[in-house]
Amino acid sequence: MKRCFIFFSFLLIKFSLQSQSTSFINYVDTLTSNYFNGRGYVANGHGKAAAFLSNEYREIGLDSLSRKSYLQSFKIDVNTFPKKVTLKINGKKLIPGEDFIVEPYSGSAIGVYNVSSVDLNNWKSYLSVNEKSIRNFLIFNVSEVVNKDTLSKYNEIKNILNKHYPILWVSSKKLQWSVAQFYNSYPVINIKSDVIKESITTLNIEVENEFKKSLETQNIVGKLKGKRKKTIIISAHYDHLGMMGELMFPGANDNASGVSLLLNLASYYSKKTPKYNLVFICFGAEEVGLLGSKYFVNNPLINLDDVKLLVNLDIVGTGEDGIAIVNAFEQEKATKIIGKINEKVKYFPKIKLRGQAPNSDHFWFSKKNIPALFIYTMGGVKAYHDPLDIAKTLPLNKIEELQSLIIKLVSSL
Ligand SMILES: [Zn+2]
Repeated sequence: MKRCFIFFSFLLIKFSLQSQSTSFINYVDTLTSNYFNGRGYVANGHGKAAAFLSNEYREIGLDSLSRKSYLQSFKIDVNTFPKKVTLKINGKKLIPGEDFIVEPYSGSAIGVYNVSSVDLNNWKSYLSVNEKSIRNFLIFNVSEVVNKDTLSKYNEIKNILNKHYPILWVSSKKLQWSVAQFYNSYPVINIKSDVIKESITTLNIEVENEFKKSLETQNIVGKLKGKRKKTIIISAHYDHLGMMGELMFPGANDNASGVSLLLNLASYYSKKTPKYNLVFICFGAEEVGLLGSKYFVNNPLINLDDVKLLVNLDIVGTGEDGIAIVNAFEQEKATKIIGKINEKVKYFPKIKLRGQAPNSDHFWFSKKNIPALFIYTMGGVKAYHDPLDIAKTLPLNKIEELQSLIIKLVSSL
């Protein structure tokens, strides 16, 4: 009988462990599926993701903070590419996302274009001497690897010339996409230098932008009442880059992983009364410029003075090289607790400590002197803001350890 009990306990533990890791993977699989269109602003990806998350909050049993809805709406301006994005150079069709991307602030261009190569050292004279012609693509070849200084100089040039011309920017730099809150009249196409094997004679392009002004999007906010007055916020942004034409950016690591961890934490705490009030926020429009968190801080649904700590989770799908803590020096106490826990349990080989940085949703909170930490994982996949950030290759091999670390941190505060 006793042996039988031990055996069943073992099965039960095994099952609960298995079902937990499956739930991390399931959430990442679901959020990165085609249905959510990269959780951006084409085909209502963001809205579908918000509806899904609301439903999860309800099933977990979180309380809402306003009018029986988990949604906190706000408006954004955003440039999108809902139609086809195609590019042919010398008759050869290029692969979106792999060979080229359109700069997020691009305007439209459709048809066959002339091309002119421009010397980067001489771009100003080109602006004054040549008659501006929108049927002429300017080509810049920046094949060398550029450093931070030249990059910002180049970006400035791109932006100035792009007000008058469409631009083809040839570079060896890794292609990364983002989201813009404005658009220029013409497109900028970033293209990999190894794709251009001969001089460009013809350029056939189809890029159509759709600027969405005052588009309604949302944060998803839920709460579990705790024993004490103070509140701990767990946050993770659920939006991603959406679609560039037919190409989807799934955003598995950034940040389906963080949302998956947030939902698992919510589910864990829903089964007991937590020590502190716990507020779970899936922020919207992070990729557009940390807009959801900015809106929340300016229109809080809770008393921000009661916030003991915010733990923001963004890119937590790896971890073999450890974790990084942003705001580590500003939040010394919490950081020390994390260090002590890790010394004991040895979840991560390294904890990298960083100062304040405006690189995710914790930023607006720390700007208002609300205690906030941002944790991300290091190592593993290199995919970032590209179409290769997919569920299949995301290890998620340390996410349970990170969950335990956060639970231990919260109980030690
Ligand atoms: Zn992110």
